[in-house]
Amino acid sequence: MPSQPLDRIVANARLQGRDGQFDIGIASGRIAAVERRLVADAPRLDAAGMLMVPGLVETHLHLDKCCIMGRCAIHHGTLVEAVAQTARAKAEFTPEDIAARATATLRRAIGYGTQRVRTHVELDPGIGLMGLDAVTAVANVHAHLVDVEICVFPQEGIHNRPGTEALLRAALARGVRTIGAAPYCDTDPRAHIATVFRLAREFDAEIDMHLDLAEGARGMNIGEVIRQTRRHKRGGRVTVGHMTQLSYLPPARHAILAKRLADAGIAVTILPATDLFLMGRSATHAVPRGVASAETLRAAGVACSVATNNVLNPFTPYGDASLIRMANLYANVCQAATPAALAACLGMVTHDAARVMNLPGYGIAPGNTADLVALDAVEEAEVVAALAEPRWGIKAGRDTFHRPAVTLFPR
Ligand SMILES: [Zn+2]
Repeated sequence: MPSQPLDRIVANARLQGRDGQFDIGIASGRIAAVERRLVADAPRLDAAGMLMVPGLVETHLHLDKCCIMGRCAIHHGTLVEAVAQTARAKAEFTPEDIAARATATLRRAIGYGTQRVRTHVELDPGIGLMGLDAVTAVANVHAHLVDVEICVFPQEGIHNRPGTEALLRAALARGVRTIGAAPYCDTDPRAHIATVFRLAREFDAEIDMHLDLAEGARGMNIGEVIRQTRRHKRGGRVTVGHMTQLSYLPPARHAILAKRLADAGIAVTILPATDLFLMGRSATHAVPRGVASAETLRAAGVACSVATNNVLNPFTPYGDASLIRMANLYANVCQAATPAALAACLGMVTHDAARVMNLPGYGIAPGNTADLVALDAVEEAEVVAALAEPRWGIKAGRDTFHRPAVTLFPR
């Protein structure tokens, strides 16, 4: 029995990796008890056997440049075109515009059960700190519904865009905890990587890089990132996103690299929607998928997440900010089919994603913040395979959203 009075009990919930049903006692915004049956004088919210997760974790989402397809054109669907089209649209961004689009996407994510977000915000001499300020304000407005961590990054390069490093420095000096990168957009990718590591060390920041987003296995930069991670002793605090070139490696080379990533403490985020859209453009038929599989990485001990990346822009002209849909897309592309493989896909938008971001106190366990999302499914595999709907959420003990089930009318 819990030692303190409970504010409410979430009753009859299923939990990831455990059999049967549990009652979850909440007191002062925290989980006070998780037991088979809690008897206490507190209001009971019946989960009716639904699977409860500690909120979905979005490790990679661009809120500043979402929802701009109405102002962009896609002719080739390549990375180069996406960067150019977005740069052109960005020149017209205003704080109000960024805030409105970021709000719409963040609210959709919340309604789909996301409770933690790492959002990448672009800095360059054109946009300055406008995106950072606007997204920070949106995050503050929604702080009771979702925890937002901002990652500032130089989408258009550092060494080819003088002034960018000073902006990164200014953002980090303000207390931004994470710095990103896009080495493939710089005239000097290695110097780009070196600068980001140097800044991360100076400001004691986490690193989350866009990396090796290309077709074929030639010219990968992951070796340099491993070297810099060791040199700057940043193991456990570096994530690389995309890594589409991994999907072009023969299995033996892939396995060796997975072991090196695990040993160096580098996490990997897979962004299936963007990678499927941008990769394979050089093929005329039998188009390669260009999505890295997490299977070999996970087997080697690498922390892996699946994330949304872009929503309705030239990098990904689709999107609803649903992480369960993204887990389903990843499962489909990478042919995850067994109950364990499908459950692992849910793990990559929950516990493993929390591991990628080094989130403390994540999980449905006594002492942790009472963050709960009810998924309309009995088993983990079913969530991913059948796109289970999130029904309701609780953050720090308070209700955050409610998504009613469909009602069909009788004859
Ligand atoms: Zn990205």
